[in-house]
Amino acid sequence: MKKLIIPIIIIIALFSCTKKEEVETNPNEKIQNEVQTYLDKYNTDFQKLLAASAEAEWQANTKIMPGDTITEKLVTETGEAFTNFTGSNENIEAAKKYLQSKDKLSDLQVRQLNVILYMAGGNPASAKEIVAEKIKAELKQTQNLYGYSFTINGKEVTTNKIDDILFTSKDLNERLEAWESSKKVGIGLKDGLENLQSLRNKTVQSLGFDNYIAYQASEYGYSTDELRKVCNDMIKDLWPLYRELHTWARYTMAKKYNKKVPDLIPAHWLPNRWGQEWNKLVNVEGVDLDKALGKKSAEWIVTKGEEFYVSMGFSPLPKSFYEKSSLYPLPEGTPYKKNNHASAWHMNNAEDVRSLMSVEPNTKWWGTTLHELGHIYYYMEYSNPDVPIILRGGANRAYHEGIGTMIGLASMQLPFLEEVGLVEKGTEVDEIQMLLSEALDYVVVVPWGAGVMTEFEYELYANNLPKDQFNAKWWELKKKYQGIIPPNERPDESCDACSKTHINNDAAQYYDYAMSTILLFQFHDYIAKNILKQDPHATNYWGNKEVGKFLHNLLSPGASVDWKEHLQASIGSDMSAKPMVDYFAPLYEWLKKENEGRTYALPETL
Ligand SMILES: [Zn+2]
Repeated sequence: MKKLIIPIIIIIALFSCTKKEEVETNPNEKIQNEVQTYLDKYNTDFQKLLAASAEAEWQANTKIMPGDTITEKLVTETGEAFTNFTGSNENIEAAKKYLQSKDKLSDLQVRQLNVILYMAGGNPASAKEIVAEKIKAELKQTQNLYGYSFTINGKEVTTNKIDDILFTSKDLNERLEAWESSKKVGIGLKDGLENLQSLRNKTVQSLGFDNYIAYQASEYGYSTDELRKVCNDMIKDLWPLYRELHTWARYTMAKKYNKKVPDLIPAHWLPNRWGQEWNKLVNVEGVDLDKALGKKSAEWIVTKGEEFYVSMGFSPLPKSFYEKSSLYPLPEGTPYKKNNHASAWHMNNAEDVRSLMSVEPNTKWWGTTLHELGHIYYYMEYSNPDVPIILRGGANRAYHEGIGTMIGLASMQLPFLEEVGLVEKGTEVDEIQMLLSEALDYVVVVPWGAGVMTEFEYELYANNLPKDQFNAKWWELKKKYQGIIPPNERPDESCDACSKTHINNDAAQYYDYAMSTILLFQFHDYIAKNILKQDPHATNYWGNKEVGKFLHNLLSPGASVDWKEHLQASIGSDMSAKPMVDYFAPLYEWLKKENEGRTYALPETL
């Protein structure tokens, strides 16, 4: 699509240029040329340094060996080279100087200069020593998190094993052991988080941001209070539904474990280490994806995912993706570990895209793989000549997650599953159970992400939460937003928030996931109703080139456009929870009937 349009624009532009040149010249040409020379050099240098740093980080995340000082040194050196560049006084001054003439510059130039200033805020030369300390502290924290050996009864276990127990076990003692084991990692991370709390704040304060969360919120164009309000409004819109789900879950689990119905949910009852996804509480009749996928290989999942994107008109993945990615669990006996958190990497903001996963043939990895490939295809889409290297990012950070997760949602709908042969044609499913299963993921993530995580990091960075209150605050927020309590009194040394990856190495950005959920239902609603003319509950994107075209237009500008305007232009709406509330309306009615006569533990309004 884009390729067809470009030559036409160029021809028109050439014609108009020739005509205009006879009568007038661009009065801003001189300053624009000067800025362009600066930006071209910045983009080239940026890309080189980014690629070197990403390569070292890749090593550090895919080959974790205790005492590996070579990789550690490489990560530090390349990270410092990158941050020395983006945070240099020279670049800060140049960007500030040129922005004074922003009325004379093109929109694309102004956008790049703003990004240069924002990036400088993460590691300004004015706080050189603090920045160097922060890089070291973050690396150490990552090593402590992923180099940690989880054990149950003194026996080393993988996190996949812990998850398995929480997914399937009906034995509350076994569940408690697994849950407690998953939290012990936090103890060794608590001091590191306290250190990072101060280093992250000091870093951005040197450029005038109030604190680290204020800095991160600024990327959306929000103040901290605006961010918290947007988050709170999303939770409020979904609260009546969440309250019904919470009630339903308490009664359902009490029956399953043969226990009295608790007011608030003990954390180890839930099928997730952080209580962030509950969909394992239901097994949708007629669709046993784990069983169907168990007969396939992990490789099948990855290939099928790629085929899906290709079917909509996207290019195949580059050969280097398969050569360089780390897609599967390490074989037993491998002398090193790898980061178990799935991620997608854009190594040089150009053709080098990779994914780090531990794919196994089950439902969790089916959705995760399609999600990560969503990031990869987003990278590939905006890696085009119209988008400068430093604007190759999501329209905002939530867009990136939203696209991946939307594909994850679409990949679970019945007509799609039939298409890929994971369920038999004509399979009947209970639609309410299907919706319930989806709500237990998509709705549950909003009070968790926009509530617990965001408010915890707000307290951490904006209010300098003291270390001895980390755990108490964490559980206070878990109770308020999720209605979840710890299984028993937590040991003093615990830092249960620290067991969450993002708290350690992706700080103050977790609301991205909640916003992306809101956005994904907006995108999905648009695709279903306006392109596919299908019920949003039963779509099949497979092979539809019009959907591919819509996604291409949505993704390819990257961050070269204003995200709010781009959203309006793409779907004709601002960010809104309405499509999500509408989507789950039939479930809400069903839950109210189901919960009739039951007691509610959560308040009617938040
Ligand atoms: Zn993601």
